Amino acid sequence: MVKRYDAVVVGGGGAGLRTAIEIARDSSLKVALVSKVFPTRSHTGAAQGGMNAALGNVIADDSPEAHAYDTIKGSDFLADQDAVFFMTENAPEIIYELDRWGVPFSRLEDGRIAQRPFGGASFPRTVYAADKTGHVLLHTLFEQALAKENIDFYNEFFLLDLIHDGERVLGVHIYDIRNGEVLLLQAKAVILATGGFARIYWFRSTNAVGNTGDGQAVALRNGIPLKDVEFIQFHPTGLAKTGILLSEACRGEGGYLVNKLGERFMKRYAPEKMELAPRDMVSRAIEYEIMEGRGVGEGARAYVYLDLRHLGEEKINERLPQVRQLAMDFEGVDPVKDLVPIRPTAHYCMGGIHVTDYRTSATPLKGLYAVGECACVSVHGANRLGGNSLTELIVFGKYCGIAVKEFVKETDFGNIPQGETLKEKEMIENLMKREGNENLAQIRSRMGEITWAKMGIFRDEKSLKEAYEELSGLLERWENIPVVDKSRVFNTNLIEVLELRNMLELARAVAYAALHRKESRGGHTREDYPERDDENFLKHTLVFYKNGELSIDYIPVRITKYKPTERKY
Ligand SMILES: Cc1cc2nc3c(=O)[nH]c(=O)nc-3n(C[C@H](O)[C@H](O)[C@H](O)COP(=O)(O)OP(=O)(O)OC[C@H]3O[C@@H](n4cnc5c(N)ncnc54)[C@H](O)[C@@H]3O)c2cc1C
Repeated sequence: MVKRYDAVVVGGGGAGLRTAIEIARDSSLKVALVSKVFPTRSHTGAAQGGMNAALGNVIADDSPEAHAYDTIKGSDFLADQDAVFFMTENAPEIIYELDRWGVPFSRLEDGRIAQRPFGGASFPRTVYAADKTGHVLLHTLFEQALAKENIDFYNEFFLLDLIHDGERVLGVHIYDIRNGEVLLLQAKAVILATGGFARIYWFRSTNAVGNTGDGQAVALRNGIPLKDVEFIQFHPTGLAKTGILLSEACRGEGGYLVNKLGERFMKRYAPEKMELAPRDMVSRAIEYEIMEGRGVGEGARAYVYLDLRHLGEEKINERLPQVRQLAMDFEGVDPVKDLVPIRPTAHYCMGGIHVTDYRTSATPLKGLYAVGECACVSVHGANRLGGNSLTELIVFGKYCGIAVKEFVKETDFGNIPQGETLKEKEMIENLMKREGNENLAQIRSRMGEITWAKMGIFRDEKSLKEAYEELSGLLERWENIPVVDKSRVFNTNLIEVLELRNMLELARAVAYAALHRKESRGGHTREDYPERDDENFLKHTLVFYKNGELSIDYIPVRITKYKPTERKY
């Protein structure tokens, strides 16, 4: 079955919804929104702490320029500075727009939108709704999208592949999870907004299990480069047992990090900012404390503490209710009276699909756009500041939507090549029939062990080579994983097999890019190259397939205002 749309948006999180709403503001255009989960279950709904915009509501001196500088410094000077300014200058306006749309932001006494301090920020700049910011944002956007009559929702449909002729995009193949049907959506423009892939760290990640990077993997297989994928963010405060996130808002509201001696150890690593240093530094600091014997316990099970007790019950209930509940449910401690065991956990992908124009979010393939965590614009460089992702989704989603409206008006539908309609249907048929003796769960577990141990917070040449080779081996073994469930209805087994392939390809691309970056910068710490090396590596990595093999290239960082300096906090 073939259906036609001016634009197909893949992803029902903050980025996809905001982009779709903008395109659909032109009622003459037909938009499809495809999401493998019901949109309000997207990972955006899990965001806790808030989103950054220099409103200056708490300290009037804040400015988009200060926001830009903090972001660039936080990025370890790898962000493209023009793109960062574009984001920070447009951020206040999109917050007020969201406010008008109904996002119930927390307020100051005088009724203006409240702002809290966050890591790496020089002013209290993070706008929030208690510690459920993503949840209210996602629901408000979904309501706004539902109100548009020209958006068709494809809920619980899975992106299989892009259709293009090498020059321009022509549409997508999607799989209907409810009944096993394969559909072709013809489109003038396709917007990928499929979120991050920090689930490649299967056992210790804050991410939803669906954050498997499907859009990035599809882009990679279609010859579109991924940019800066070696930079993975490890969030300092994951619950020790599960890796579930406790928001940076814990430290923003005044929480301490202490080792087993009861010492606020951040004084050794970031004497000025202390707990509010950027995430890459705080995560490393925790790991150093553990390595030097000042953590509680040893090895993989060791941890340090988050101490919120001095904040008092009232403030914890008002500002951090979800954090309290998560700590009680998943760690068995109550932050009002107990110390909370925490350790870093894989959280966010700074890298993603190579965006070539930050004003439009266009990629190298005409008609293909990428927005949100699946894209690399790049505004986060080597380390993202907390609260900058939600801002990125909405700013770039809006301006991508504006660009797409223009693009589709001056573009015709292309011709879908013959045979294309059946291609993915056959792929699914073959997969369903596949026989083999490999086990999905075992291979996925092995991937999780390799990524954590060999390409985690600390890496070196040997560990990265091993990771690359072992992941290549797992990709070969993937070919022999059978789909055991033969049903057509909600076949989650089939979906997990498809997702695993995507994660393995991305994990291998991360190892490959990390192996080639022989320096330490932001979230990428090479024990064999501990210093930042601006002379050789102040550049973006591009990884892509060339004749079936991963290949690498570099492009310059756009430095428009601030010369790189040493990062101190
Ligand atoms: C626990 C947690 C807390 C966070 N807190 C904050 C915070 O306080 N502030 C902040 O700025 N950032 C925060 N972040 C980061 C931020 O929430 C994410 O980067 C952001 O929400 C990603 O939004 P997105 O729209 O790009 O993707 P997502 O919200 O992840 O949505 C991805 C969408 O793509 C769809 N999709 C994926 N694959 C397919 C496929 N194959 N076929 C069809 N559809 C597909 C999914 O169904 C989903 O709708 C947090 C992240 C986590 C994990």
